[in-house]
Amino acid sequence: MRKKIVAGNWKMNKTFPEAKELANAISSKLTEQGSTDCDVVIFPPYPFIGSMVDITNSSVMSVGAQNCSEHDSGAYTGEISLSMLESVGAKYVILGHSERREYFGEDNALLKDKVEKVLEAGLTPVFCCGESLEIRDTGHHEEFVKQQISDSTFNLSPEDFSKVVIAYEPIWAIGTGVTASSQQAQDMHKSIRETVATKYGSNIAENLTILYGGSCKPGNAKELFSCPDVDGGLIGGASLKVDDFVAIINSF
Ligand code: PGA
Repeated sequence: MRKKIVAGNWKMNKTFPEAKELANAISSKLTEQGSTDCDVVIFPPYPFIGSMVDITNSSVMSVGAQNCSEHDSGAYTGEISLSMLESVGAKYVILGHSERREYFGEDNALLKDKVEKVLEAGLTPVFCCGESLEIRDTGHHEEFVKQQISDSTFNLSPEDFSKVVIAYEPIWAIGTGVTASSQQAQDMHKSIRETVATKYGSNIAENLTILYGGSCKPGNAKELFSCPDVDGGLIGGASLKVDDFVAIINSF
């Protein structure tokens, strides 16, 4: 069964008291509500992860990290390892967000190492891909995204690949207020699923969770999530507002 997920990428936002308030409010609303038709994950900044795990109800939501080191331990000042994340209760790790690729020079080869590390640690990688507007304008966006996915994940065994979550996030839609139309999202998600089917077979492709990210809001989530190949969302700005995030969760 294909898993549906709504995930909140908090990026570099919130102080500790603000983060506690937000996580508490989301957790209480979801607990009150009883059940959701999707899994919910929040991705707070590193220093807050352990506390977010402690204060949220693990039966209604999980907590993840926005990045990780590709190294196990040692002299890598400022870096955070998978064993650290695992030890504070993180369950997911976002990898290859376009902001990491653009501002921190992360490329497909480095991300391949990170995907392997996350899987080795028993956590779930949320592997981000997506094209710039320039690439979309050339008409080669599907090939570009296929390349990102194949370079960083097609070395995996079928068993390992089946644990990966993909997030398609067109760069031109992130934080811009411009959302991909549901047709644009569906076309790309279908193309990703077909690429995966060619490599790993239709069973693994059918069970792969592919999230959409980029200006997803309460007003457009329902339409996006109703596309046959869209299995949820990776939400940035709207995940910082309790009511918006919960409304997106309830769009399923
Ligand atoms: P946005 O960000 O929802 O604010 O566009 C999405 C993301 O970058 O994950």
